[in-house]
Amino acid sequence: TTEDGVRRRVLLKLSGEALAGGGGLGVDPDVVHAIAREIAAVVRAGTQVAVVVGGGNFFRGAELQVRGMDRARSDYMGMLGTVMNCLALQDFLIKEGVETRVQTAITMGQVAEPYLPLRAVRHLEKGRVVIFGAGMGMPYFSTDTTAAQRALEIHAEALLMGKNGVDGVYDSDPKTNPDAVKFDALEYSEVLTRDLKVADATAITLCRDNALPILVFELLTEGNIARAVRGEKIGTLISR
Ligand code: UDP
Repeated sequence: TTEDGVRRRVLLKLSGEALAGGGGLGVDPDVVHAIAREIAAVVRAGTQVAVVVGGGNFFRGAELQVRGMDRARSDYMGMLGTVMNCLALQDFLIKEGVETRVQTAITMGQVAEPYLPLRAVRHLEKGRVVIFGAGMGMPYFSTDTTAAQRALEIHAEALLMGKNGVDGVYDSDPKTNPDAVKFDALEYSEVLTRDLKVADATAITLCRDNALPILVFELLTEGNIARAVRGEKIGTLISR
């Protein structure tokens, strides 16, 4: 973080759902374009940005399991779905003039580099955006957990969790309960004990054990990625 509070290196987690826009399935190019524009702006202002992209707009392993599929195999389908999202985001970032590398946890040499943390850091130092795809490469994990792990490994200052249609963490679902109350700040332990729907417990625990702050914020409000990077008081900050 610089003296004025601007974060120098961040890990941005984008859920697959967010990339689908209102559609719920597949990617909405207009949404991806808007996100790419915002990322490009903060990169040009000097912040290093790594991204972990989810895949819930294509497949979620747990949902396929309920329909009778083997969990591990359906999780691999989920991981492969994230890579399509990565390529869509890469495309729009390149159109914005930002050098971008995709690194995947499942090797697929024609479309992406393998996950190489030291090389990822070198890319970031050169002002390139690095997009991490295919989650951790392991079934039974989530892209939220991947985001926490990658953020730690590349020494990001914060995990920025962009949400679609909700501007932070509430004590109950604001979409169904009009009296839901938003938290400006939370401790990791509160998220876990109250079972607040932020990310899965594995991801929260990893952040807690390594004191990695999480900012939950509304992704598609114009300028919000820049606000999150500048450390402005938006969303909900989860820390110790
Ligand atoms: N997944 C996995 N291991 C990982 C990351 C993801 O098995 O390390 C699978 C899992 O099936 C998950 C799917 O990929 O449901 C899509 O990821 P996620 O649900 O985290 O995406 P998001 O909710 O962020 O769109």
